[in-house]
Amino acid sequence: MSLEGRVAIVTGASRGIGRAIALRLARLGAKVVVNYRSSRAEADAVVEAIEGAGGRAVAVQADISNAQDAGRLVKAALDVFGRVDILVNNAGITRDTLLVRMSEADWDHVLDTNLKGAFHCTKAVLRPMMRQRYGRIVNISSIAGVRGNAGQTNYAAAKAGLIGFTKSLAKEVGSRNITANAVAPGYIETELTAGLSDGIRKAALEMAALGRIGTPEDVAGAVAFLVSEDASFITGEVLQVDGGLGI
Ligand code: NDP
Repeated sequence: MSLEGRVAIVTGASRGIGRAIALRLARLGAKVVVNYRSSRAEADAVVEAIEGAGGRAVAVQADISNAQDAGRLVKAALDVFGRVDILVNNAGITRDTLLVRMSEADWDHVLDTNLKGAFHCTKAVLRPMMRQRYGRIVNISSIAGVRGNAGQTNYAAAKAGLIGFTKSLAKEVGSRNITANAVAPGYIETELTAGLSDGIRKAALEMAALGRIGTPEDVAGAVAFLVSEDASFITGEVLQVDGGLGI
């Protein structure tokens, strides 16, 4: 599997799953735009790790929930590397609480980042991808968007929304040789899940057929496959990367 000559944008790549995806795509030969919102030092460290291994990368600050920032992110990729072949809409947040207690601000913040962010970034890459007659878009959804999760109505709505977005987009852009797929991770060890209770962690372990918690690299492997030539006839799919949690 080689991504030599390809240019990838990975949103929210300063840590966790996005970081692992950026490192994996770079290892396969892609030039990578490492997006972050506020964690500059961590994003710079990802760029250093890629360049230290002989790859090419650049860190670009942009809040993907803002249309102008998303446009600037894509422009930076075009200015620095000349094209955009791969977009991984990974940036995401949680504001968990039961719906009876959820504020409108918590609802909006999660929807604006996790769903509208993908809209902004995808819209900004589509014209260059259509001109190239080539594109690979992967949206990081969640098992919560497939099955639902108490305490995450905002997050699950955004992640389920991403699945509908992915399937509709796949139908719109397939004729231009652009694929759009979603990856729905289960419980993955990152800062996002670090704050969850031992009870939730134990339940996730018990439900996963493989009997272990996932790693960011588990998700990166699935994304690398979906953006590779090996997946060129796969579009509109939702690939669950959850160790069997969703069976
Ligand atoms: P982390 O909290 O570890 O990392 C989130 C990343 O997103 C950071 O790089 C952060 O950058 C960035 N980010 C957040 N908001 C914005 C924004 N508005 N604009 C740009 N970047 C932003 O999360 P994970 O790695 O765990 O999660 C990555 C994705 O995977 C998310 O979409 C999440 O919903 C999904 N997922 C995770 C699961 C898990 O178990 N961990 C399970 C299922 C899905 P900064 O620090 O600079 O703000």
